[in-house]
Amino acid sequence: MAEVKAQEHSGSGNLAILTKVDRLRELIGNRIALPQLVVVGDQSSGKSSVLENLTGFAFPRAAELCTRYATQITCRREQIEIITVSIIPNQDASPDEQARIKKFQRTLNELDPAILAQANEAMGIRPGGDDVAPDKTSLPAFSKHILRIEKFGPKEEHFTVIDVPGIFRNETEGLTVESDIALVRDMVKNYMKDPRTIILAIMPSNVDPATQEILKLAKKVDPAMSRTMAVLTKPDLATESTTQQIAIDHVMGKRSDLVLGYYIVKNRGPDHADKTLEEGQADERQFFANAPWSALKYTDRAGIDCLKRRVRELLIDIIKKEFPLVKLEVSKELNSLKSQRDAMGPSRNSPAHPKQKYLNKISETFQSLVRDALGASYARHNMFSDHTLRLMTRIVQQNELYSDTMSRSGHTRRFRIMEEDENSQSETNDDMKALPDLYPNLHEIFDTITPIPESDMEGDILDYISHVYTSSRGQELGTFSGSLLGTIFQEQSKKWEPITIQHLNVIIWHVHHFIHAALRESCSDAKVFEELWNTYLLDELQGSYLAVLDRAKLLLKIERDCCPITYNHYFNDNLQKEQGKRLVNAVEKLSLDLHVSFFPKDKLLHIPESSLQKLAANKSNSEHVCEYMHDVLYSYYKVSRKRFVDVVCQQAVNYYLLAAEDSPLKIFNTQMVLHLNEDQLDTIAGEDLHIRQRREKLARDIANFEAALKVLKGSG
Ligand code: GDP
Ligand code: MG
Repeated sequence: MAEVKAQEHSGSGNLAILTKVDRLRELIGNRIALPQLVVVGDQSSGKSSVLENLTGFAFPRAAELCTRYATQITCRREQIEIITVSIIPNQDASPDEQARIKKFQRTLNELDPAILAQANEAMGIRPGGDDVAPDKTSLPAFSKHILRIEKFGPKEEHFTVIDVPGIFRNETEGLTVESDIALVRDMVKNYMKDPRTIILAIMPSNVDPATQEILKLAKKVDPAMSRTMAVLTKPDLATESTTQQIAIDHVMGKRSDLVLGYYIVKNRGPDHADKTLEEGQADERQFFANAPWSALKYTDRAGIDCLKRRVRELLIDIIKKEFPLVKLEVSKELNSLKSQRDAMGPSRNSPAHPKQKYLNKISETFQSLVRDALGASYARHNMFSDHTLRLMTRIVQQNELYSDTMSRSGHTRRFRIMEEDENSQSETNDDMKALPDLYPNLHEIFDTITPIPESDMEGDILDYISHVYTSSRGQELGTFSGSLLGTIFQEQSKKWEPITIQHLNVIIWHVHHFIHAALRESCSDAKVFEELWNTYLLDELQGSYLAVLDRAKLLLKIERDCCPITYNHYFNDNLQKEQGKRLVNAVEKLSLDLHVSFFPKDKLLHIPESSLQKLAANKSNSEHVCEYMHDVLYSYYKVSRKRFVDVVCQQAVNYYLLAAEDSPLKIFNTQMVLHLNEDQLDTIAGEDLHIRQRREKLARDIANFEAALKVLKGSG
C-alpha cells in the first residue's frame, strides 16, 4: 500500500521537477541554495543506515569508521546502470586545488572501498583504518569538499540527499583532535542553515529526544522548527518499556514540538550487516508489526517506506514553493555576473581585442571627463559629486584668490595713496597648507617655492625712494633716470614671485588630483591604472608641471626685470590723478578757513595771494622728485600688476596648464597610446594570470547561470 503511494507521488510531473533540481544542483548548486535534504545527527546515530534505506543504495562502510566529509548521493532513473564518483571542491579552496580536486572522476559498476580510499587521498585527508603511514598522520581528519556519488539505473527512484559528518564531543586518539569537534559542528550547522533545506535529525530511540544536541542545533537555524523532521533509529535497542513509550509518544505526536513530527525506522544492526537492504526492510516490517510498536500502525510514521514517501512529498512541496524565488535569485545573480564581466571589458590578450584598442577606450573616457571638467559640465558624471574634482570651478576660485592676494599684498611697501581694496590688511594665501598631502611625487615640484615673506610692509616708501634717489642720482635736475624706476619697481614687486609660484602650485595640485581621479574612473582594472599612472603618466606629468612653472618664471622675469614699458593710457591717467591730488592737498593746506557758506554744497577755498607763492616753493628739489617718483611708480605698478595677474591666469594657467596641446590634461590621449610599443602595451594592459582566471571563471559562471535559467524556465 505504502509502496504504491510512493510510486504515485513520484509521477512523471514530480520526476521532472526533481530532475530539474538535480540539473540546477550541477550547474549552480554551490552558488544558490536549492531545496535539499540533509541527514544530520550524532556519530553512529544511524544516519548512513537511514540514507541507505532511503536511496536503496548501500555503500561500503568498512573503509570508513565515520563520515568525514559531506556526501551527496543522487539516484536517478537512466537506462544504463552505473555509478559515478566525483568531488565537488569547496569554494574557498585555491583555484589550483579546485582544479586538482575536479580531476577526480570515477565511473564504476559497483562502489568498492578502494574508491573511497582514493577519494580520501584526493581530498587530502588522513586515510581510514589503523595502520596510517607516518607521513599521513598530520593530515586533517575532515574535509569541506563534497563527495558526490551518483547512481543511475532503470529502477532507480529519483532522489538526492546529503549525508554530513556526525557530531561528536570527545576527540579520538590518533584520529580526531579537539578543533575537529567545532569544525564538524560548524560544518553541520552550515548544511542546516539554509531555509530551503529539510533537516532529517537522526537520533537513536534509546535516548530521550529532549536531551539531543542535534535538535538544539536545529532550533538555532530553524527557530520555528518547521523544516526539521526527527527520525528515531534503533528501536530494537530500546528494550525498557519506558524508553519505548517515550519513543512511541514522540512518533504519535504527543510530545512533539516539531511541525514535521517524528518518524521511526529500524535499520540493519551490526549483527545483520551481511543481509541485503531488502532483507533488512523485510525485518523492519516484521519488527513494527509486533508490540509495542504495532501501536504506530496507523500513524504512517513507522518504517522506512513511510519516511521515504513523506520526505519526497516535502521535497517536492518545498521545490514548488521555492522555484519562483530561485528563479529570481538566479536571474539577479546572472545580471550581476554579466555586469562584472562587462566592467572587465573584452579580453586584452586575444588578437581580436588588441591592447591598444582597450587603452584607446580608456583614454577616450578619460578625455571626455577632462572635457566635462573644463566645460564645468558636472552633471554628466557622478565623479563630480566630489567637489574637489570640479576642476574649472576650483581654478576660477584660485585665480580670484590670486588676483586678490596680489592686489592686497603684492607690494613690498605701502604706497602713500592707495585705493580701498589695495589697502586692506594683507592676508597670505595659505591654501597650500590646507591641501591634503596625497601625492608625494609633487613634493619635488613644490619644494622649489621660496616662502612668501612673513613681514609684509617694509617701512615707508618715500624714505626708501629718497634713499635710492640720493644714493644713485646723477646730474639730472628736477627729474630722475629711467633705470631708477626699474630698480624701485623690482624692489616693490619682489613678492610677486613667491605669491605666483604658490598659486600655480595650488592649481597644479588640483589638476593632478583631477587627473588621478579621472584616470582611476576610466580604468576598470586597477592593475592597468597602477601601470599607467606609475610607469607612464607620473614622469610626464611632473615634466609638464615643471614646464608650466618655468613659463611662469619667465613671465615674472619679463614683467619685473625688463625696462618698464606700458602703452596703457591708465598709466598716464593714474599719474595725472595722483599729481592732481597732490596739488589739491597742497592748496588745501594753504587755504584759510573762513566759514563762508554761500554755496553750502561746494567747499570754497580762500587763499591769500601771498600764500600762493609758497605753493611753488615749499619743497626742495629732491623732495619734489621723490614725490614724483612715487607717483610714477604707483601708476606704473598698478598697470603692471593687473597686466601680470591676467597674463599668469591666461597663459600659465589657462593655456599651458589646461588648454595647450601638451598640457598635463592632454598627455594621456590616443596619440600617446598609438606611440606605445608592444612591450609597453604588454606591461600596461597585458592581463595577468589573476585577471585571466577571473575572466574565465566569470564566463563559466555565466554559462552555468544561463543554463540554470533555461532549466527554471522549462526549456533546458
Ligand atoms: P552514522 O554514523 O550516523 O552514519 O551511523 P551508521 O548508519 O553508520 O550506524 C552506526 C551503527 O549503528 C552501525 O553499526 C549500524 O549497523 C547501527 N545501526 C543503525 N541503525 C540501527 C538500527 O535501527 N538498529 C540497530 N540495531 N543498529 C543500527
Ligand atoms: Mg555515517
